[in-house]
Amino acid sequence: MPESSAPAQQIWEERWHPLREEWIIVAAHRQSRPWIGENVRAAVHDAPAYVPDCYLCPGNARVSGAKNPSYTGVYVFDNDHPCVGHASPASPGPAPAPYAVRRADGVARVISYTPRHDLTLARMTSSEITAIVDTWRRETRDLGARPEVKQVLIFENKGDVVGVSNPHPHGQIYATNFTWKTFDTELEAFRRYARDTGGALFDDIIAAEHQDGRRVLYEDEHAIAFVPYFARYAYEVYVAPKRRVPHVASLSDAEAESLARALKDVTVRYDNLWKQSFPYVMPLHQAPTDGGNYDDFHFFIGFLPPLRRPETLKYLAGPEIGGGNFLSDTSPEEKAAELRAQSSVHYGETERAGSGAVR
Ligand SMILES: [Zn+2]
Repeated sequence: MPESSAPAQQIWEERWHPLREEWIIVAAHRQSRPWIGENVRAAVHDAPAYVPDCYLCPGNARVSGAKNPSYTGVYVFDNDHPCVGHASPASPGPAPAPYAVRRADGVARVISYTPRHDLTLARMTSSEITAIVDTWRRETRDLGARPEVKQVLIFENKGDVVGVSNPHPHGQIYATNFTWKTFDTELEAFRRYARDTGGALFDDIIAAEHQDGRRVLYEDEHAIAFVPYFARYAYEVYVAPKRRVPHVASLSDAEAESLARALKDVTVRYDNLWKQSFPYVMPLHQAPTDGGNYDDFHFFIGFLPPLRRPETLKYLAGPEIGGGNFLSDTSPEEKAAELRAQSSVHYGETERAGSGAVR
């Protein structure tokens, strides 16, 4: 092992995840251990701008028989294969004690980011991404106002390795009649921290990231992006407004624009890392929408990338699936340094138009 890289690679400790209130084992000294696991192929990049049988491209028919309009910006529609919805059986069969069952009510929608089949967040302009953030704001407000909806989960799955069969850039909305476990845990952590310290947990996380500085990828007046100290996945990144708001809907226009710039910056760094379209799961962490007081909750966006090296998946196994805590083979400081070293101009832009061409 080269001496210069030794300090980062030798991190072997347990770090507390203050939002999940659990320990993460960081065993970065193991990263060079022999690996004969499965490799995944890099995503093919050169999709056409329009695909005749894509159910998301403008003007095309979907499986439900509905036809997409010739849309020009962001396009939202009800999912043709909803996991929750009003079409679910109103009275599910009885569940014997101690079991419980109820209707799978709610709303599931799809957000097509753009009519262009061949783009990704990293290849869109920050003003195009602002239009997506504005859609998140509107959908959260509208769906959250429905009496049957307790929480609006918005997310993007990107890449074959997280099971996305259609590369047309899109996200999804699950507006459900229950609240999601991850955000329940975070809400409780935010509240406990406020009770115990009188402070705001996410404000203090941002302050700690500032203080250290090594893991910060992007910052402007309203938004910040960083690899958290307690990252569970290699290349995990949080993108957050600096002001504490419980929902994306509460952002100002200026904050939404900053958030879009941060999302652009992070996704470009991701693609530049291995010169390939970088896969991730990207949930918006939002408070419930059931009318309660959620002033302690700090809305943010998490990027959870499944790859730990080019074409090598992070497998969830005994510690994660079995025990419920994460074992990380990489040091957050080292992964942040790799991302910080990347250009904020997409490699596809520099290859196509020469340096200085910024979309
Ligand atoms: Zn398409």
